[in-house]
Amino acid sequence: MITFDKLTYPESGDVIGYEDGRFVVPDHPVVPFIEGDGTGVDITPQMIKVVDAAVNRAFNGARNIAWFEVFAGEKAKAMYGEYLPKDTVNAIKHFRVAIKGPLSTPVGGGIRSLNVALRKELDLYQCLRPCRYLAGVPSPVVHPERMQVVIFRENTEDVYAGIEWAKDTPEARKMIGFLKDEYKVIVRPDSGIGVKPMSETGSKRLVRAAIKYAIKHGLPSVTLMHKGNIMKFTEGSFKAWGYEVAAAEFAGETVTEDEVNKKLGGKVPDGKLVIKDRIADNMFQQILLRPEEYSVVATPNLNGDYISDACAAQVGGLGVAPGGNVGDGVSLFEAIHGTAPKYAGQDKVNPTSLILSAALMLEYMEWDEAGDAIKKALERTIQGKVVTYDLARQMHGVTPVSCSAFAEAVIGNL
Ligand code: NAP
Repeated sequence: MITFDKLTYPESGDVIGYEDGRFVVPDHPVVPFIEGDGTGVDITPQMIKVVDAAVNRAFNGARNIAWFEVFAGEKAKAMYGEYLPKDTVNAIKHFRVAIKGPLSTPVGGGIRSLNVALRKELDLYQCLRPCRYLAGVPSPVVHPERMQVVIFRENTEDVYAGIEWAKDTPEARKMIGFLKDEYKVIVRPDSGIGVKPMSETGSKRLVRAAIKYAIKHGLPSVTLMHKGNIMKFTEGSFKAWGYEVAAAEFAGETVTEDEVNKKLGGKVPDGKLVIKDRIADNMFQQILLRPEEYSVVATPNLNGDYISDACAAQVGGLGVAPGGNVGDGVSLFEAIHGTAPKYAGQDKVNPTSLILSAALMLEYMEWDEAGDAIKKALERTIQGKVVTYDLARQMHGVTPVSCSAFAEAVIGNL
C-alpha cells in the first residue's frame, strides 16, 4: 500500500481503479482534495457538504466519498516548506480522481504556476470545460440556453509549453542567430523568442478523447478549432491529425461535414457523429451567432484558453463554469476562477464553479445520479433568487446570501 511523508489517508475508503479507459469506482472511494488558497477556505468545505448530501440522497446512503485532504499552495508551504509536495502528486496519481480549489501563483518561487505544474506532473492533457446554461443565471445574451458546448483544450503543448526567452538574453540572441544562419530567416534583434510545439501524439490523443466523449454522450458533432490557415504546420497539422484520428479509429461512427455536404445531400446519417473544423476567429462569431450548431470543440491550448472563457461568459461567467483536467487514468477537477484573495475568509464568494466541477467529477465517476441532482438543485436555488453577491448585483432587487447560506439552500433543493 502507498505511504506518504506527512499524510495519512482515510482507511474507510478504497482506491478507484482504471480499466479499458474508464474509472472503476468502489462504493466508498478515497477522493483527495486540495482546499486551495484565498477563497478556497470558503468554497471547498461548502462543495464537500453539497457533494456528500447529493451522494447520500442519490444512493440512499449506500455510497459515500472518503475525503482525503492533500496540500498545495500556502498550506503546503507551511507544512512542507514547498508549494507542491511529492505527497500531493503521488496521492492524486494513486487515488486517480481528485478535486481542487484555486491556487495562487507564488511570486518569485521559480514556479510559473502551480496549476500548470500539476497538469504537467500528472500529464493531464485534456482541459475540459463544459459550458451549459443554468436557468436563472444572469447572462449577457438573449438565448443563453442555446449553448450546450463542451470544450476539450489541449493542456500540455503549444505556446503554453513555456519555451520562451526574453529579449537580449544569450538564448534569444543565439536563436535569432541560428534562424538567420541556418534558415535565412530574419528576426528583429530586439525580439523575445517563443516556441510553439504541437505534436501528432499530443494532438491525436486530445481529439481521440473528444470523439470518445461525444460518442459516449450521444452528441452530434466534434469541431476542430484551429488557426491552420496561418500556422500551417502546428494549427493546420492539428486539424489534419484530428481528421486522421476520426478516419482511422472511428470510421464506423463518424462522418465529416464535407462528406455530409458533398456526398450525402446535407443529411447526417442516423447515429453518426459529424467531424467538422472551423478557423479560430470564425469560431468566436459562430459561437455567439449560432451556438446550437456546436457541441464538442477540440482545440489546441491557446485557442482553448480564449474560447473557454468566451463561452463561459455567454452562460453567466467564470463564477458558474466548471472545469476538469483529465489524463489517462487520473483526473483533477477544479474551479476555473482564481483565489479572489480580497474576499478570502469572508464567506462571501460564489461556490457554484467548484460545486459544478464536483458534479463533473461525479459524472466521470459514473455517479451521474448525484451529479445531475446537484445541477438541478443549483438551478432551483438560483431560479429562487437565492444567490451570492456576484449574481445578485446583476439581478434587480435581490439581496445576496453568503457562500455557506447558498450551499445550504442548494442542499435543501436536492
Ligand atoms: P480571480 O481570483 O478569479 O478573481 C478575479 C475576480 O473575479 C474577483 O475579484 C471577483 O470579482 C471574481 N471572482 C472570482 N472568483 C469568484 C467567486 N468564486 N465568486 C464570485 N466572484 C468571483 O482572478 P485574479 O484576481 O486574476 O487572480 C488571483 C489569484 O488566483 C492569482 O494568484 C492567480 O494566479 C490565481 N488563479 C488561479 C487559478 C486556478 O487555481 N485555477 C485560476 C486563475 C487565477 P469582483 O471583484 O468583481 O467581485
